[in-house]
Amino acid sequence: MDIKPFKRKIYLSSPTMHGEELEYMTEAFETNWMSTVGKNINEIEKNIAEKIDTEYAVALSCGTAALHLCMKLAGVKKGDYVFASDMTFDATVNPIVYEGGIPVFIDSERDTWNMDPVALEKAFELYPDTKVVVVANLYGTPAKMDEITKICKEHNAILIEDAAESLGATYKGRQTGAFGRYNAISFNGNKIITGSSGGMLLTDDCKAANKARKWSTQSREDAPWYQHEEIGYNYRMSNVIAGVVRGQLPYLEEHIASKKAIYMRYKDGFADLPVTMNPYDETICEPNFWLSCMLIDKSAMCKQVRSDSEACYVKEKGKTCPTEILEVLAKLNTEGRPIWKPMHAQPIYRNNPFVTVRGSGRGQTDAYIKNEMTDVGMDIFERGLCLPSDNKMTKEEQDIIIEAVRTCFV
Ligand SMILES: *Cc1c(COP(=O)(O)O)cnc(C)c1O
Repeated sequence: MDIKPFKRKIYLSSPTMHGEELEYMTEAFETNWMSTVGKNINEIEKNIAEKIDTEYAVALSCGTAALHLCMKLAGVKKGDYVFASDMTFDATVNPIVYEGGIPVFIDSERDTWNMDPVALEKAFELYPDTKVVVVANLYGTPAKMDEITKICKEHNAILIEDAAESLGATYKGRQTGAFGRYNAISFNGNKIITGSSGGMLLTDDCKAANKARKWSTQSREDAPWYQHEEIGYNYRMSNVIAGVVRGQLPYLEEHIASKKAIYMRYKDGFADLPVTMNPYDETICEPNFWLSCMLIDKSAMCKQVRSDSEACYVKEKGKTCPTEILEVLAKLNTEGRPIWKPMHAQPIYRNNPFVTVRGSGRGQTDAYIKNEMTDVGMDIFERGLCLPSDNKMTKEEQDIIIEAVRTCFV
C-alpha cells in the first residue's frame, strides 16, 4: 500500500478540550485563587467522590503522588514486600520503592491482561507476611476485583487500586477507584479526562483522607507557626488545574463513548485477521476503552527480537509483528505504542521476585528464561501493541489506519 502520511498527527491519546475548562481556569485567575487552595479544588473533590462513590477524594499534583500517599497510608516500610501488577506503567510500583518497600511482581492473566488472581494466591503462599497489594486496571479494563478482593481479605492484606487508566470504567456496576482501601486516579494529559496533570487519592476512610491532605501540604501541625511533627510533601493540586478537571468531568461519559466506538471499529476492521483486541468480559465489566490494543496470534508472528533499546524483525509472507505495525503507523504520521513492558523485565526491577502461575523466581532470569514459554506478561508484550486511540480521530482516518495495519498481514 502506498502510505500517505496524515497532515495532522493522530496521537495515541491526546487531551480533548471542550471550553468549560477555560471558564473555570479564568475564574481562578479573576478571583486570584492562583494557588493550591480554591473553589475548583473543593468542587472537583466533591464531584469525583460523588462520581466514584467514595466518601473522600483528595486532589493531588499527580497520580504518582496519590499512589505514594496510598503506600504511606498502607504502612509500607523499609524491606516490606508489596505484591504489584507486573505489566503496567512504572508509576504503579515506583511509590513502593519511595517508601523502601520491595515490589514482588505478579504475572498477568489472559482474560483482562491484569494481575492474575491465581498467581496472587501463589504469591501469598510464598510470602505469607505480605500486607499490601497494588493492582492496576490496564488500558481501562478492570482487573478481576472479586477474586483479588477476596484473596486480600483472606490474607488480611490492604488493597490499593491504581485506577489511573480506568476512570469511568465499572466492574459489576461499581466504578473503579473504589475497590481498594486506598485508590489513585490520574488526570495526566493522555488519560481519559485530563487536567494537563493532576491526580487524586480516593478512600472511604476519613482519617486517611485527612492524613493524605496534611502530608500533601508539607505536614503542618495545628499551631500559629510552621510546626512539623512528620515529613511532608508538596503534593497538592493547583486550583488552576482543578479548574481544567472540573471542566472535563462532565464529558467523561462522552469520551468513553467515543473510545468505545474506536475500539469497536478496530475490532470489526480486524475481524478476519489473526489478531484479538485487548479482552474484557462484558457480562462483568464495562471498560472505559482508554486505549485500543491488538494482540497478534502466535501463528501470525514473524521473527522479532528486542534488546533493551532496539527491535528488529524478519518479514515473512502473511506474518507480522508489533515492530512492523508500529513502523507502518509511524509512517502514516500516527502514534502507536508497544504494550507496557513488564516490570520484572525492566533493568531496575530485574532482580525483584516475580510470581507466575507456573513458577516463581527472580525477574527475567528465572521465570522468563527457564520456562520454555515466556510468562503471560512478556508474551503479551511481544505480540501486542497499542493503536492510535485518540478521541478526535475521525472514522475516515481510522479506516485508513485499519487498512494500513491490514497490509502488514499480507
Ligand atoms: C498514568 C498512570 C499513573 C500515574 O499518573 P500520573 O498522574 O502521570 O502521575 C499511574 N499508574 C498508571 C497505570 C498510569 O497509567
